[in-house]
Amino acid sequence: MTPSTHTVAGHWIGGETVTGSAGTLPVVNPATGEVVTETPAGTAADVDRAVTAARAAFPAWSATTPQHRADVLRRLGAGLAARTEEIAQAITAEMGSPIGMSRTAQVAFPAAVLESIAGLADDFAWTEEVGNSLIVREPIGVVGAIAPWNFPLQQIVSKLAPALLAGNTMVFKPSENAPLTARILAEAAAEAGVPAGVFNVVYGTGATVGEAISAHPDIDMISFTGSTRAGQRIAAVAAASVKRVALELGGKGANIILDDADLPAAVERGLMMAFSNGGQVCGAWPRMLVPASRQDEVVALAVEAAKQYTVGDPGDEATRIGPMASEAHRQKVVGYIERGIADGARLVFGGPQRPEGLTVGAYVQPTIFADVDPASAIAQEEIFGPVLTIIPYADEEEAVAIANGTVYGLTSGVFGEPEHALAVARRLRVGQVDVNAGRWNPLAPFGGYKHSGNGREFGRMGLEEFLETKSIQR
Ligand code: NAD
Repeated sequence: MTPSTHTVAGHWIGGETVTGSAGTLPVVNPATGEVVTETPAGTAADVDRAVTAARAAFPAWSATTPQHRADVLRRLGAGLAARTEEIAQAITAEMGSPIGMSRTAQVAFPAAVLESIAGLADDFAWTEEVGNSLIVREPIGVVGAIAPWNFPLQQIVSKLAPALLAGNTMVFKPSENAPLTARILAEAAAEAGVPAGVFNVVYGTGATVGEAISAHPDIDMISFTGSTRAGQRIAAVAAASVKRVALELGGKGANIILDDADLPAAVERGLMMAFSNGGQVCGAWPRMLVPASRQDEVVALAVEAAKQYTVGDPGDEATRIGPMASEAHRQKVVGYIERGIADGARLVFGGPQRPEGLTVGAYVQPTIFADVDPASAIAQEEIFGPVLTIIPYADEEEAVAIANGTVYGLTSGVFGEPEHALAVARRLRVGQVDVNAGRWNPLAPFGGYKHSGNGREFGRMGLEEFLETKSIQR
C-alpha cells in the first residue's frame, strides 16, 4: 500500500491543508476492524471557512469558458487514471470493495463520467434565442456536495464534473466511513488546473458538517447522495435558505423476468445486480420477480450461480464479495436475514451465520430467499447487502404492481422478448430501467422517482441541474 493514500493531514480549503481543531474521526478497515487512519472531525466554523474560499473563487472560475473548464476536467480524468492503484488501495481499505472491482469500476466509472461531461461543453445551449428573449444559462454559485461510502470517488465525481463545467465552486463533505479518496481527488484537481478555492473538502459527520452545509446561507445548492432518511433531513434544513436541493437516495430495484425471457441469462445478470459490491449499490436489483410456474427453475439457477460469489479478503484478486462497509452495517444486514426467516420466507442459500472461516471482519453470507411475500420487510426495505429476494407472480399485471409497490423508484431490470420487455419497462415508476441487460450509458440521466430522490445526474440533464436560467427581453 502507498502510505500517503491513508493519511489525511487536514481539510482542503482554498488550495491548502487546514488542520482541524475539534478532534478526529477514525477510519476503520471493515475486513480487519483496525483503524487505518484518522480524519479531522470538522465543525461549522470549518464549513464557514470553506464557503468563504469557494465564494472568493467563484467570480474568476465562472468567468472562464466552458471549453477551458472541459479541458481541466479531461486532465483530471487522466490524473485519476494515473493514480488508479493508490485510489483502489484506499477504497478497498476503507470500505472493503474487492480490489479487482476497486481497480476497475471504482476508478473507471469516474474517469468515464469526467470524459462524458467534458464532451457536453461544445454543443450545450449555454445561450438560446426564444422570440425577443435571450436565454442565458449561468452557474448557480457555491454547491455543497455530500456523498455516501459505497462508491466514494464516483459519487463525488458525478457532482464535481457537471458542477465545475457549469462554472460553480464547491464545498464537499465525504462520508466519514470512506473519506480517503477526497484528498487524492483534490490534489489531482489542483494539478489538472482547478484553481485554489474552487473545490474544497471538509471532513466530518453528517450531524455536524452535513447539517452546517445544508443550513449555510451562502451555499446556493445542495447535491446529496445517500439514504432517504438523510435526504429528507437535508431538504428540511435547507428549506430555510431556499436553496436548490438535488437528492439521489435509496432504492429497492426489481428485476422482472417475463415468461418469454432467456431464463439463465436473466438470472445470472440479476444475481450480479443483486450481489455486486456486496449488494451495497443504490441501483441494485435485490428483488427478482418470476412467473410462479418458473420459480423452481429460477431458484436452481440462482443457487448454482451464487456458489461463484467467493466471500473473503477484499485484497485478494479472487474475492467477489468483501466485508460489508462497517460492523454496524453488517449487523443491520444480518438483522434483515433473520427477519426474513422469522417472516416465513424460504431460505435457499446463505443465512445469518458468519461465512465459514471468516471469524473477524464485517462479513456476511450472500443469501437468497424464495417465496417472498412482496409486502414483507425484506421485500420492502433497503437492506443494502447481498440478499436476493425471489418473489413469484401470477401474471404480468401483478408483476408490475409488485415492482411499483415500494416507496422507492430508482432502477429496475426487465428480461423478455425485446418489444414485450420494453412495454413493461415503460410501465415502471423508476428513473432507470435496463432491458435485457442494456449497457451502462454515462450520458443517460440517472435518478429517482418517489422516495428515491429529486433530480438527475449524468449527461445533459445532469449539467442542467447545476445551472440557473435567466431570460433577457430586448
Ligand atoms: P447516509 O445517508 O447515512 O450518509 C450519506 C452522507 O450523508 C454521509 O456523508 C453522511 O455523513 C451524510 N449525512 C448523514 N446525515 C446527514 C444529515 N443529517 N445532514 C447532512 N448530511 C448527512 O448514507 P450511506 O450509508 O453513506 O450510503 C448508503 C445510502 O446511500 C443508501 O441508502 C443508498 O441507496 C444511497 N445511495 C444512493 C445513490 C443514488 O445515486 N441514488 C447512490 C449511492 C448510494
